[in-house]
Amino acid sequence: IKKMKISGENLEKLKSLIDAAATIGVVSHVNPDGDNLGSSLGLARILRNHGKKTQVIGHDEIDDYLKFLPDLKYYTKDYKDSYDLLLILDASEMDRIGDAIPVAKKSKMTAVIDHHLGGKIESDLNIIHPDSPATCELIYEIASRLELPIDKTSATLLYTGIVTDTGRFLYSNTSKDTLEIAGHLLELGADKEYIYTNLYQNKPIKVLQFENYLISKAEFMTDRVFAVSSADAVSKFDVQMGDCEHVASVLRDLEGIEISMLLKEYGNGEYKVSLRSKNVDISKTARENGGGGHINASGFSIFDNSLEQAAEKAREILKNIQ
Ligand code: 5GP
Ligand code: MN
Repeated sequence: IKKMKISGENLEKLKSLIDAAATIGVVSHVNPDGDNLGSSLGLARILRNHGKKTQVIGHDEIDDYLKFLPDLKYYTKDYKDSYDLLLILDASEMDRIGDAIPVAKKSKMTAVIDHHLGGKIESDLNIIHPDSPATCELIYEIASRLELPIDKTSATLLYTGIVTDTGRFLYSNTSKDTLEIAGHLLELGADKEYIYTNLYQNKPIKVLQFENYLISKAEFMTDRVFAVSSADAVSKFDVQMGDCEHVASVLRDLEGIEISMLLKEYGNGEYKVSLRSKNVDISKTARENGGGGHINASGFSIFDNSLEQAAEKAREILKNIQ
């Protein structure tokens, strides 16, 4: 693959940080998704195979749909309070790494490897490429160029993140490079059948019923649509909040719809908003509201004491997107 994204200087710096570290921690954002876990577990495995003691800092319960991933035993809550090198992956703001913020403060060195717009984490090295569709693609580039072997399991992990963040190789962020990298990961033994059947052919019927319910309650307004995933709905259908993952993109993909918004009630007054668009840059709106993300997929939080009020705030934000 000829067109690589990371500068030679940054790559060298990363290599020297890795070489100098006896202990390495890898951390990503809370509410882990496919690219987050694929890149963290994949890089950690590559570094362990290279002889480096590497842990992945685990924050939350992992949603059931991702529990098929290999190496989850390395996603641990039993992490150190500092590392020689902490690698912060797939996160553009410090508050995204939740309980691990003190680890970032205490670790000797930190490096960010990310593909979100407008990264704001202070660190010793920033490898940030918003034109990359997935952090997993950047990890692939790092491993290839530093000649760190990608074994079968690492290939499966990296392939997973590319599949999920490109919407199965369909979103506009999918490039020729992406497909070539995916092809190379297959050559290295990525198990695409295993990934496909687990990610996309294993949906519990109750999750489909939950999605249908959320979609049936969606409010349509000209070229945009607003939906709510309440804690009540989650418990009524006996699912997890992460099971509404696809609702925002299903609604966005409808004829005549440009932007979708999904409000998720997390409890303790926190509501997470997922935004999806076809052409409009919705990352601006997410950033204005304290969040971030990508041009066509972004998110932010609203804090309020009632679902109704949070929904009203969210609707206003949606109506006002230019
Ligand atoms: P999702 O809607 O799937 O939670 O997130 C879509 C994209 O927006 C992801 O790339 C995610 O990392 C980003 N994102 C979601 N919520 C936040 C947030 O609160 N802050 C920031 N900086 N990014 C977010
Ligand atoms: Mn990502």
